[in-house]
Order: sequence, then structure tokens, then C-alpha cells
Amino acid sequence: MTVQSASWPQGPFAAAHDSGIWLRCQLHCHTTRSDGTPEPEALVRHYADAGFDVVAITDHWLITEADSGRDGPVLVPASELSADLDRAPFEAEVLALGIARLPNPRVPFASIAACAAWIAEQGGAAVLAHPRWSMLDADDILPAVALHGLEVLNGGCALEQGNGLSDAVWDRLSERGFHLAAVATDDSHRAGDPGGSDSLLAWTMVRAAERSAAAVVDAVRGGRSYASTGPAIHTLERVAGGLEVACSPALAVGLVSGPWDGGRVSADPARAAHRARVLERDADGLIVRAHLDEPEFCVWGRVEIEAADGGRAWTGPLALPGVRAPYRTGG
Ligand SMILES: [Zn+2]
Repeated sequence: MTVQSASWPQGPFAAAHDSGIWLRCQLHCHTTRSDGTPEPEALVRHYADAGFDVVAITDHWLITEADSGRDGPVLVPASELSADLDRAPFEAEVLALGIARLPNPRVPFASIAACAAWIAEQGGAAVLAHPRWSMLDADDILPAVALHGLEVLNGGCALEQGNGLSDAVWDRLSERGFHLAAVATDDSHRAGDPGGSDSLLAWTMVRAAERSAAAVVDAVRGGRSYASTGPAIHTLERVAGGLEVACSPALAVGLVSGPWDGGRVSADPARAAHRARVLERDADGLIVRAHLDEPEFCVWGRVEIEAADGGRAWTGPLALPGVRAPYRTGG
């Protein structure tokens, strides 16, 4: 099993990536070319106007081209592919970011593993779309060792069906040593539609070596990202005994880890903190810098920020030096 995060204990925040740039990416959105309402150029303009640096149009089984215009966002050639599941009439879907051609024939892959492997062979980044919406278990995903990332939050699924959050299955994968990069997306089909838009809900911050499609794909393949529906994570540093996080004003900051493990601190001093403490607050008393203890037992953890408006940000799983020991129950 590939443990990708072993080489990125601080992920995109490691000093080795100091020369990189943060790019705000929309990595999942649809146009009239498949089942969306905006024309490709209108979709790109919509995200450009909202401050996005990168757009990957992911029409189903198509690579949709668009004119980004002068100084427009970087366009990543991409598609949303599908794979059969043994046990269900429904398919799983995988984002293929940075592919130059489509599979031939254009039929669903036999498995998520085969789909991810094909994408990886093309030099693309394979990101599992909406695992909760597809009702996938960790056992459905573990064989797909070529996957690079997972949508921890799919905005469209969250908005329209309330099942866009996939943190539980993501953590089960991490606990079993399969660490996938943090991705959050809109999966918009009606971006900017005056009758009801499903965009600007979620995005992925990627630490790319440069402002290019290839660098974005390379960063997702290497786990150099965090996912957000609002909050920003400014820095993440290893310090003695844990991590120090600087972020946009937060109601709570936590380290999510495996069974029995992790810690969290809230801005409200009346709320109990566990294995975490506030280092700095803003004028409103919200957390802008926090210390998180490293895991006690588990060898991985991920940082999660919660903002006062309900927005969240998630780092990918980080390799942290917990002690992997049998849990003691006192029995
Ligand atoms: Zn989609």
C-alpha cells in the first residue's frame, strides 16, 4: 500500500515548497457540453470573476475546451470518468485532471482501481468524486492504489442532497495507511444561473511550483493541497510536541486522527479543549493561531478549521510521529 504522506509530513506547508505559489482551484464543474447550463466560456468567466486562478472543466466523458481569455485562469484539461461497482447499480465517479485524451472505448471502467490506474498512466491526477454521495465504503476504495486525492466536500451534493461531506471514509482510509490529498469542489452544473446557482461553495488550494496546468496536476498528485469552503490556512509548522497552525479567524481548530486520538480547541474559553491550545486571537476573540499536540497513538493526523459562519478547511492527512501501539482499555 502506498503511503503517500510519508514524504510530506507538513504537506504543502513544508519549507521545501516555499518557492511555490498558492492557487485557488475549481477542479469539478460542468457546462452545456454535458449536463450543465453554462457555456464553457461563461463558466470560465464566472470563476475568473470570483477570483479563481485555475479551472478544470470536468464534463462527463468529454474534455471540454474553452478560451480563457487574456490573463484568464489556468485551464486544466479534465473529465469526469466513471467506474462500475460490483454490488450496486450505481457507478463511482473519478475526476481525471490533466489528461490529453479520453479512454477508448468511452465506457465505464470495470472498477475504481482500473479507472484511477488509467488516469495515472496518462500522467493525470485521479481524484475520487463525492464518495459519500456514491455511498462508497473504504473497502470499495482501498484497491484503487493509483488514486491521488478525494473530494472531502462536494458542494453540489451538500447543497442539493445534504450528502456532500466525505470526511468519515477519508479518515478510515488514512487509518489504514492510504493517504489521499485534500480536495473540495463545487461540482457545479448551474454556475451563475440567475434561477439558482450551485457554485462558489468549495474549492481546493494547491501549492504549485508555477502557474501552469502541469504544475497544478503535479501538486495534486503530490498531495500539496488543502480543501476549503471558506477558511484559509496560512502556515502549518512542526514544533516540539505538535503543530502550530495560523489561519483565518476560526471558531475551532483541531487535529483529527485515528481511534481515540486527536485534539481540538474552541475560541469560546468556556468550552473544554483537548490536546490543543489557543496561541493568538483576533479582536473578536476568534482563533488565528493554535497549537495542536501530535497524536498519542496514531501515526497520522489532519488539521481541520471551523469558521464562525460554518465554513471549514481541511488539510490532507499528515504523517506525524505518534506511537503505534495497542490501545489499552485497562481490562
Ligand atoms: Zn460532476
